[in-house]
Amino acid sequence: MSRYFCHEFPEVLTFETRVVDARPGAVVLEQTPFHPGGGGQLADRGILRWNGGEATVTGLEMIAGRLWHLLATPVEASDTVQAVVDPAFRTMMTELHTGTHILNALVYQQFQGALVTGAQLNDDGTARMDFDLPDADNDRLRALEPEINDVIRQDLPLRYAYVPEGDALAERGLIRNRSVAPPPAPDGTVRVVEIVGLDRQACGGTHLASTGASRPVRILKIDNKGRHNRRIRIGLVGPGE
Ligand SMILES: [Zn+2]
Repeated sequence: MSRYFCHEFPEVLTFETRVVDARPGAVVLEQTPFHPGGGGQLADRGILRWNGGEATVTGLEMIAGRLWHLLATPVEASDTVQAVVDPAFRTMMTELHTGTHILNALVYQQFQGALVTGAQLNDDGTARMDFDLPDADNDRLRALEPEINDVIRQDLPLRYAYVPEGDALAERGLIRNRSVAPPPAPDGTVRVVEIVGLDRQACGGTHLASTGASRPVRILKIDNKGRHNRRIRIGLVGPGE
C-alpha cells in the first residue's frame, strides 16, 4: 500500500488539484483525498468539480500504480479540479472500520490468537468479519458486544507507524489476516495502526482519531460458515452525522 494522501491528511476531504491524465469519463489526479478502498473498506464516494462542470465519482481503479477516478459521465476534465469526498460516507466507513478493529482485537485476545479470514464493510452501516474460529462458542462471541462498547466508551486514541516489512512479518499478530498481508509501500514499509492500550495491526484503511467518536456497535448475527469460518455481523446503532 502506498502512503495515501488520506493517510497523511485524513481530515482533508476537499482538495484542489491537477488532472495529470485523462480519458473520457476517467481521470488521474496529482493528489487525491479519495481512499481507493481495499481490505474490506469501500472506496470513497464524492464528486469532481471544475470550471464549468462537475461529475460524480462512481469508482476508483488502481492501474499500474495510478489511481483512476471513474466518472458518471464521459466528460473530459483537464487542468485544475476540486476533488470532494462525500463526508458522511467517509465518516461511516471510518467508524465501521474502527469497530471492526475493536472486534478483531477482542477476538484475537480472547480466542487464542484467532485470525481474520475476510472482512467487508457495507454502505448501510453494517460490516462482517470472518474469523478462523473452529471451536468457539457463539454465546461467548455474542458476549463481546458490551466489551466493544466499553472500548468505545474508554475513548482510546489511535496512532500510526510505518515499520519495515520484515519486522511486520516477524511480529506475532501484526498481520491479522490469515490470507492477505497488506502490500508494503514503495519504501518497503507497512502501515501499522495502533488502538493505544488495545491492539496493533497492519492496515491501510481509515480510522477514527479515537474510539469514543464511534456510535455504539451491536453484534447483529453470528453464522457458522464451514468449520474454519465464523462470520460476525456488526452494525452501528443510531443515526449518523
Ligand atoms: Zn484498519
